Amino acid sequence: MAITPKINGSLKESGDLFTLPKDRLSAKGATEKALVLAERLQRLPGYENLELAPVDSAEATLEIAFAEGPEGGYKLKVEQEKVTVEAYGEEGAANALATLYWMLRDGKGTASGCEIIDIPECGYRGFEIDSSRHFFDTDTVKSMIEQLSLRKMNRLHWHLSDDQGYRVESKAFPSLNSISSYRIEEDGNKYGGYYTQEQIKEIVSYAKARGIEIIPEIDVPGHVVSILAAYPNLSCRELPIAVTPKFGVMKTVFCAGKDEALDFAIKVIDEVAGLFPFEYFHTGGDEVPKDEWKACPHCQERIKKEVLADEEELQSWFAEKIIGRLRELGKTSICWNDALVSGKQSDDIIIQYWREQGTYCSDELKKGRKWIYSCFSNFYLDYTPDVTPLRTAFAFKPVLNSGELLTKETGLLGFEAELWSEWIPTKVRLEQMAFPRIFALADRAWNGSDSYVEFLERCNKEVERLREDGIACFSMEEADPE
Ligand SMILES: [Zn+2]
Repeated sequence: MAITPKINGSLKESGDLFTLPKDRLSAKGATEKALVLAERLQRLPGYENLELAPVDSAEATLEIAFAEGPEGGYKLKVEQEKVTVEAYGEEGAANALATLYWMLRDGKGTASGCEIIDIPECGYRGFEIDSSRHFFDTDTVKSMIEQLSLRKMNRLHWHLSDDQGYRVESKAFPSLNSISSYRIEEDGNKYGGYYTQEQIKEIVSYAKARGIEIIPEIDVPGHVVSILAAYPNLSCRELPIAVTPKFGVMKTVFCAGKDEALDFAIKVIDEVAGLFPFEYFHTGGDEVPKDEWKACPHCQERIKKEVLADEEELQSWFAEKIIGRLRELGKTSICWNDALVSGKQSDDIIIQYWREQGTYCSDELKKGRKWIYSCFSNFYLDYTPDVTPLRTAFAFKPVLNSGELLTKETGLLGFEAELWSEWIPTKVRLEQMAFPRIFALADRAWNGSDSYVEFLERCNKEVERLREDGIACFSMEEADPE
């Protein structure tokens, strides 16, 4: 069976052939997930009029029941007259129906009889979309979610705030939209936008129906120039600053010495957290230059008053206040590994590992932390394929700078690919940079396989499918240049 990710379990063929009626998919259980399947099947020739009929009897053509088992896994049984799913959690139902969809699509409405058991190796199979550097409309975000759900990925990390724009409708601070959501490009054009709270709720439920949970990121105390454009009083020097069209690390950050800056950050995070029901919240913490803090009387006063060693500890202090608030809201925080330099972050924070200068993460390993591995050399898909070809995206190994290996036993939750959008201005470019390279992660995080040659065959098939669906992607030759 040519699906990606490859089944991680067993596949037994029976010789039966199931044929889906053209007009009616009668289904019992997990109606929301079955509806997604019906909508997908409507795109097959001859099935345009297919309708989902929720039934509550043994006569269902598709029967989905939930059972105890590893989250995301499932059993799928295809017989002459009926398809039965035993799903481990909601994600398991979504994943089972993704497999069934590919079977029915390849079989033009038929599926060969079989019994499948399929269990993911990693519970976290993520991708990140950066809507700040470039703003992608809701249809583009949904289209990415749909394609990645079909490859059983289960987490979208949504980067919604950065120096170049703030992208969440704010009822608490309207200037975050009128000012922080727009920038003047170097050619003089106004660029930007934001998602309304209604649009965000719609995307959250669209993703959930496809087995994907969304983790918002509001990056603090750095990467906040767009916010400071509206509220310059929250910086150390309080100088007027514009939402920047430039890329790179900016020196102007939140003042960690002013209570009003901390209060503001907490209120913004409260508002955003209320829109995303999933338990994880990403608070950034990367790339915080300390130049302004060193020269700021408020920041120096805070260091003295809180008995902190230096500006690194000041960053930890600030982060702990934000993380403490998220904890009160029932959320677990994720930070970039840069936020760990002081060694003083609380032990319940999940660390997203991207690039380490030094070996301080080795100490964190001993604390029993949880990790998401996103090392830039394999997972930063904003790098073009001549820098990060498909084979490099596939050949990842979760090691720290110290050489220590992360494993499930040492807290590794899984992997995430990043699509930073500085140089990704359009939907077509976003799709090309993602596809097919992101399937390397989707495949290996699911089944743990390291056979690149075998993966290439299936990946080739995925490229064909994307083209049939009108999704842009690099050809196999472009994705893996010699
Ligand atoms: Zn300051």
